[in-house]
Amino acid sequence: MRVGIGYDVHAFGPGEHVTLGGERIAYAQGVVAHSDGDVLLHALCDALLGAMGLGDIGQHFPDTDARWKGADSRVFLRHCAEQLHKHRWRLVNADLTLIAESPRIGPHRAAMQAHIASDLGCGTDRVNIKATTSEGLGALGRKEGLAAQAIVLLARMKGAADGH
Ligand code: MG
Repeated sequence: MRVGIGYDVHAFGPGEHVTLGGERIAYAQGVVAHSDGDVLLHALCDALLGAMGLGDIGQHFPDTDARWKGADSRVFLRHCAEQLHKHRWRLVNADLTLIAESPRIGPHRAAMQAHIASDLGCGTDRVNIKATTSEGLGALGRKEGLAAQAIVLLARMKGAADGH
């Protein structure tokens, strides 16, 4: 088995929506990012890549590459899913935490779970999404941006030789 952890943060900026867990959410601001700035998916990708020993999202999708400008982060997640399959890993579970004063994600949680489970080819019961605030403390507490943490557990696909 392997574990991986991921963390991401993006600042709020001009705009009228944020994308979280692959779900577009109307909001008074946008996020400053090269891609769509989906902190939940970026943290999840880093956790998956970390667990597989494949570096981080910046190595796979450099923000200096014009191809990823405004990119849908689900493309990144599906790339990670391909790597899971290629290297014979399966997701046991993923646990994600959004850290933000706003927006509130309760009404969007099920849709986010469905997007992630679809991209990873697993059941929604393997993907947990939580949210918390910073209680008004620090940059996140001042609503200057939003952050996310992710942790994943991987297991060898059945029948795969365990070389680790
Ligand atoms: Mg990011």
